[in-house]
Amino acid sequence: MDQAITGLHHITAIAGNARRNYDFYTRVLGLRFVKKTVNFDDPHTYHFYYGNATGEPGTILTFFPWEDIALGRRGTHMATEIGYSVPEGSIDFWLKRLEAENIIYNKPSAKFGEIYLTFLDPDGLKVELTVPEKTDNRVPWETPAITEANATRGFHHVTLTLEDIQPTADLLVSMFGYQLQKHHTNRYRFGTPANEYGGYIDLVEAKGEPRGHVAGGSVHHIAFRMKDDATQIHYRQLLAERGLHVTEQLDRKYFRSVYFREPGGVLFELATDAPGFTVDESSAELGTHLMLPDEFEAKRAEIEAHLVKLD
Ligand code: ZN
Repeated sequence: MDQAITGLHHITAIAGNARRNYDFYTRVLGLRFVKKTVNFDDPHTYHFYYGNATGEPGTILTFFPWEDIALGRRGTHMATEIGYSVPEGSIDFWLKRLEAENIIYNKPSAKFGEIYLTFLDPDGLKVELTVPEKTDNRVPWETPAITEANATRGFHHVTLTLEDIQPTADLLVSMFGYQLQKHHTNRYRFGTPANEYGGYIDLVEAKGEPRGHVAGGSVHHIAFRMKDDATQIHYRQLLAERGLHVTEQLDRKYFRSVYFREPGGVLFELATDAPGFTVDESSAELGTHLMLPDEFEAKRAEIEAHLVKLD
């Protein structure tokens, strides 16, 4: 277990309007705005990071907001649901809150014995709040409206919808240290003993269903946690030996990443824990400044002029 994958690091999705996305995730859902930066490949657009109180891996949802992006379509070959854990007894609070905010939601139901509530974010991204079997003790971010009794704790699971789950399941089990833990109809839940709080990967087999289209309101990729560079090098090597095309290591400022497309068609990333979000802002000030990588600092005024104001 020395080089175990310790669960999810972050999930990255695509949004439309930046201000609407910011309002929804910080105010309506009550996540901490952990980092405001730009898309390193397109510095005139934002890259937002939302997480728990400490911005720890396994709680980080990131968005590329692109104002005029067309909506995507849920289907196979993609990640289709993002699940957060919430405390026992909080579902009624969330129901009332979603209702008051005119959010589209389904009435609560149960999956693998756990109660959950599904809703759509303003771009149509499917999000779930689940009360886990085991209490999730990760430190929540609190807002005046959403206190510890109700606040999200971090990722509970992510769902991948696949034409055929087998190749992806093989990768998770034979290489990533995951095990099939639960199975109901066409949903297969994989977990790793290296992660205390879920971080489950649910594979849903939808043979013959239309292929999804990744655009606005869809997940772009999911990233797994690498405790250090040596672990990342180890997995990069294993993936290459398996014949998967894996990128070189890229510096994402807050972590170092390699990317590959898993055999079911979903873009996967392996991201290091280090250096983390306090590399350029103190933990008290996370998310309060526009942070730019060094190569864009000289163009700060011009970049800021292009970005939508958030408040
Ligand atoms: Zn990523």
